Amino acid sequence: MPRCIPEPYKIKVVEPLRMTTREHRQSCIEAAGYNTFLLDSKDVFIDLLTDSGTGAMSDVQWAGMMRGDEAYAGSRNFYNLCDAVRDVLGYDMMVPTHQGRGAEHLFFQNFLRKGDIVPMNMYFTTTRQHAELAGGIFKDIIVDEAHDPASRFEWKGNVDLGKLQALIDEYGLERVRMISMAPDVNMAGGQPFSLSNAKEVHAFCRKLGIKIYMDITRIAENAFFIKEREQEYAEWSIKEIIREICAQSDGCWMSAKKDGLVNIGGFLAFFKHEDEMFQKCRSMVVVYEGLHTYGGMAGRDMEALAVGLREVCNNDYLAARVGQLRLLHGMLDEAGVPLVHPCGGHGVFVDARAFLDHLDQDEFPAQMLAAQIYVESGVRSMERGNVSAGRDPETGENRHPRLELVRLTVPRRVYTQTHMEFTAEGIIELYKRRESIPGLRFTYEPETLRFFQARFEPITG
Ligand SMILES: *Cc1c(COP(=O)(O)O)cnc(C)c1O
Repeated sequence: MPRCIPEPYKIKVVEPLRMTTREHRQSCIEAAGYNTFLLDSKDVFIDLLTDSGTGAMSDVQWAGMMRGDEAYAGSRNFYNLCDAVRDVLGYDMMVPTHQGRGAEHLFFQNFLRKGDIVPMNMYFTTTRQHAELAGGIFKDIIVDEAHDPASRFEWKGNVDLGKLQALIDEYGLERVRMISMAPDVNMAGGQPFSLSNAKEVHAFCRKLGIKIYMDITRIAENAFFIKEREQEYAEWSIKEIIREICAQSDGCWMSAKKDGLVNIGGFLAFFKHEDEMFQKCRSMVVVYEGLHTYGGMAGRDMEALAVGLREVCNNDYLAARVGQLRLLHGMLDEAGVPLVHPCGGHGVFVDARAFLDHLDQDEFPAQMLAAQIYVESGVRSMERGNVSAGRDPETGENRHPRLELVRLTVPRRVYTQTHMEFTAEGIIELYKRRESIPGLRFTYEPETLRFFQARFEPITG
């Protein structure tokens, strides 16, 4: 397979980037308490903090922005979005929200009863937080391979039905009323589930009356891996695969800021038989988000999303996106940098525990590595490890996830191959002098979603 796959688009508008000096970056990271979330974007050269809302829109999407119908009620863009959701995903009913967590909030508040078990294929930060705020208890049912960065297993996003059965045995079906399954599992390194796994999970849950709600935030990237790796679906279009994935669920939520190819937006969607949940969410959306025909989005945002949902089904685009990630992954791997394997669908994940193996996990190796990558080359990445995992609500202890990662998340349609090469060079330089990098300790620790606003200082002497 060729190492690089050309993007099926060209650049029409450019946005200048500013390179800074190492001294400047050192003072910036100190002022930010060694938290890359607290850096100002003007001080960042290549921004790989997140793929959330950071993508570039197409000319067709920008044209859609001019067609915004900013009516308070019944905007035509709402109906265009309903059509796109029905056509691309297959769901019958949709509730728009301002972004993914708005949808999660409505969903969990309306579905969960206090003490319900919420099994998911690994946690996601905002999803787990909203489940817990609604009285739920998160349980991980992802396959063991997902927790091992070095495992080359191709379906690290799969659900382990044995783990789900064990939860049912322990808590009973009265408390295991739903599971959530996410494609291209973010916290596992952008790892996909197979369609055959989704179908098995579906059959299992149907038999027992357990609902499946998917977090379809990165569904197109997962569909690409299914087309590439699952023989049976090699000839299917991306859209056909996406619809087949959704058909294994009862409903979904989506942060449209990822595979929706837009800068803001989200929604809940359901099949017809979920009318009760749909009605509940639709009546609550007006309290927290906005009227049920805009849910916190402007009309123009809904139009851009309607176009984005269709655009993301392009297999050439997905091949170029994953090809770009594989290029970065390959360069780092060749230089011996420890990574999550195989390469994921939205970023390259560095195994910070192995990179800084002289540090204890409570010295936050991934947090420090992200800070050092920034100082080295102006590339902003994000910690996905001990800080992101937070504390166990019962014991108050750090959760110590097995994965202690730095996420280099590549925005969609934004950076070039040279940006990837530059990023790799900086990290490889850092790897050569890794022993000299100290750990961190908290100087400020917020109570919820602490990774966003926490502050640290280096442990010296
Ligand atoms: C980003 C994300 C969310 C939350 O969505 P926001 O739009 O950031 O509020 C939920 N689930 C997953 C898997 C995500 O990646």
